[in-house]
Amino acid sequence: MKKATRQHTKKHNRNLVLRTIFAHNSVSRAEIARVTHLTRTTVSEIVSGLLEEGLVEEVGIGESIGGKSPILLSVAADSRYLIGLNLARDKFIGAIVNLRGEIRETAEAPVPDDNGDKALELVFKLIDQLLRKRIKPIVGIGIGTPGLVNTRDGIVVNAVNLDWRDLPLGQMLQKKYKLPVSVLNDSQATAIGEFVYGGDHASDENLIVINMKHGIGSGILINGRLFQGDGGGAGEIGHVVVQGNNELCSCGKRGCLETISSARAVLKNLDIKSLDQARESYIAGNRKVVKVVNGAAYHLGMVLGNLIGTLNIHRIVLTGDMTQFGPGWLDAVSEAMRNAVLARMSESTLLELGTLDYRACILGASAFLLLDDYSLLFTLENK
Ligand SMILES: [Zn+2]
Repeated sequence: MKKATRQHTKKHNRNLVLRTIFAHNSVSRAEIARVTHLTRTTVSEIVSGLLEEGLVEEVGIGESIGGKSPILLSVAADSRYLIGLNLARDKFIGAIVNLRGEIRETAEAPVPDDNGDKALELVFKLIDQLLRKRIKPIVGIGIGTPGLVNTRDGIVVNAVNLDWRDLPLGQMLQKKYKLPVSVLNDSQATAIGEFVYGGDHASDENLIVINMKHGIGSGILINGRLFQGDGGGAGEIGHVVVQGNNELCSCGKRGCLETISSARAVLKNLDIKSLDQARESYIAGNRKVVKVVNGAAYHLGMVLGNLIGTLNIHRIVLTGDMTQFGPGWLDAVSEAMRNAVLARMSESTLLELGTLDYRACILGASAFLLLDDYSLLFTLENK
């Protein structure tokens, strides 16, 4: 029992130290001790272990603040790799990602029309393809998939487009590749990607990321942790009904946010094929286009107002196709949002655009494996 506790403390401290090194470009042992409140001896011991694992490297000499100049430490970015997959609607994209979120290799394939089993085969095929690139060691696989996901058990509960129901994807991949696997809703993965690798976010920050690709979803981080709700569906705003008896949605309901505010809905309502064309007409001020796009923005803004009223989170990142409509669209979203909630709450809320595009989902799905615990990085110990 006592030993177990000691082991636990050791792991906890090691995570603290590694998290601090991850959060800095380079940092000295003394600075780590100051930030983590661990003793210098403990920090030195842990750092020795990290150097031995090759996870951390000494990268130079820092400025002296009286006394000896400190040696600076940095994460060895290419000492470990993760695989991230974005199961987007039109194509699946996979990538090998290093510890700094840099993509080293990618593989992609169009999604077959009669999906289900075929889509599953494609997931295996992409991972096989990436593993053949001989970039090593790969320590985990993260998947971002549309639909409702039970992340704890790695089960895709319901992904309508892929025709997956109660699919134990995590278990299947774990069994085949003998690696830790995480399965996340794609918008939740996108949120983690933007949080970790996008704008400048403090590690304990709150953040909402709205993901507007084919459909609409969102991911919510509270104190730097992904909030998934009791059933895993937290942030599933695309299927909240905003206009009764309207357009039939893929989920079977009518008037879901997705049927009005998504890129697909906008193109359908305008009877235009390409987003580029719609954007040009919008910017040129075509009245019909402006009406439809601003209507889409209006309903999204109303839902954002509801989210702010519920969560009072100060930063919201918008990402995906619809952001291509630019400042006019963003202003319309912002105005509707501000009209939908107490002024004092909306005034302090910042709407920003995402920076990572499709990469956010891949990076987030892989980073999720490390969000709470770095254990899987320790290859010497895991042998
Ligand atoms: Zn729906």
